[in-house]
Amino acid sequence: MNKKSYITTTIPYVNAAPHIGHALEFVQADVIARFRRVKGDETYFLSGSDENAIKNVQAAEKEGIPTEELVQRNADAFRDLLKKLNISVDQFIRTSEERHKIGAQALWSATKKEDLYKKKYQGLYCQGCETFYNKDELNEAGECSEHPGKKLEVIEEENYFFKLSNYQKWLTEVVEKDELKIVPQSKKNEVLAFIKRGLEDFSVSRPVERTKNWGVRVPNEPGQTMYVWYDALANYITALGYPDVNAKLFKTFWLENDKKIHVLGKGVSRFHAVYWLAMLKSAGLPIPNEEFIHGYITVEGQKISKTVGNVIDPFDVISRYGVDSVRYYLLREIPAYEDGDFSEEKFKDRYNGDLANGLGNFTARVLTLGAQVGEIKIGGAVLLEKSVEEKIATIQKEMDIKLNEYRFHDALSSLWELIRFGDGYVNDKKPWEIADPEEKKRVIFNLITILDNVAAFLLPFLPETSEKITKNIYWKNEETLITAKPETLFPRIK
Ligand SMILES: [Zn+2]
Repeated sequence: MNKKSYITTTIPYVNAAPHIGHALEFVQADVIARFRRVKGDETYFLSGSDENAIKNVQAAEKEGIPTEELVQRNADAFRDLLKKLNISVDQFIRTSEERHKIGAQALWSATKKEDLYKKKYQGLYCQGCETFYNKDELNEAGECSEHPGKKLEVIEEENYFFKLSNYQKWLTEVVEKDELKIVPQSKKNEVLAFIKRGLEDFSVSRPVERTKNWGVRVPNEPGQTMYVWYDALANYITALGYPDVNAKLFKTFWLENDKKIHVLGKGVSRFHAVYWLAMLKSAGLPIPNEEFIHGYITVEGQKISKTVGNVIDPFDVISRYGVDSVRYYLLREIPAYEDGDFSEEKFKDRYNGDLANGLGNFTARVLTLGAQVGEIKIGGAVLLEKSVEEKIATIQKEMDIKLNEYRFHDALSSLWELIRFGDGYVNDKKPWEIADPEEKKRVIFNLITILDNVAAFLLPFLPETSEKITKNIYWKNEETLITAKPETLFPRIK
């Protein structure tokens, strides 16, 4: 197949404003999308908002405003965050849009008849997750692990069910054989364990009375609203134009693309790696190829919660430290496969140590030296040292491997090794002590080449900084390289 990539974030509930955890996922997905573009893939990157939840109706009721107004306001806040974080999305889909509703209904209608049935049902329901849980899935206190402290409700109602049990064997194989590749392995194991415990059919509709007329109606069934997860997951294809199978985006990025990558948090892996696959299979559609599952962010060692009062406002952090400092912290300090912590102190350490000193300092040194010598004429001479060339190639190879495995923090650690190598090269060669002007230019040319590559490798992570560096390095013509002295990239903070 052609080189194509489709990258998605999950679509957050819009019953509240975004927090730092959302920023983590946006930034991670953005690195993947930008990296795929650098590698020459035709790339499509999607984000959006999940607006059909009953929670939105409840939140709007509390504020005394129409639900439409609440979801609009919060969807705007998420869109604004994407912009402030410099996330290179191609589209932002809102699931309250008509085109999405039509697509979700079409997906329902395409589902095999034997996979959907109606039954009276009584179960333990978490309002927060809008999902039913079995007793053995709850924590020791008998609560949902995503929403501890909240009592589950016993709810009885007549719902449609999806016959997930029909897909037990197929799902096991798909995950085991990496037909859907789940990264990291630990999360793949968890999904497999969940499947192997035995899959139970899940309810996929709610009575209209309980959803208060909000959400997507079940086709030909006026009394039932589609379960919010059922419709939300469909955003990954409705945004591309489904149910129009001839829609260009849908064809290019879903039907004829073997690099469909979902980025998601560990709390929603069951929906993405189990339910979603079965829904697609039943409707005769291709499944995603990869899912990268990230962990959660704690703040000063504690779970983010409104009650604790430790919700970090990403807008505030960006306005204080700049977008690339926030991107860097999330990508470097939070281990990609696990939970990580946010604290002001660690933020400042990373900032001063890695950005102000490491990257900022190296950039300033090299560009200052470059500006001092002025134009560097190549004139057919081989100026680049073998050791420098090899080091750059090694780092690039390492970073590619790590980025293909979504190990963002490890990839950055490799990149900083190249910066240290560059620092070592300056200290070693002491260009300011070199008397021969040609030799001096040769050494500085090597340094500029290192910096130029640092900036290139940095692009998916810190696009703004990368550009700030490269705009000071330019070729006057094929033979002549000039550098300009830059502004300070990262002023030290106290
Ligand atoms: Zn819950």
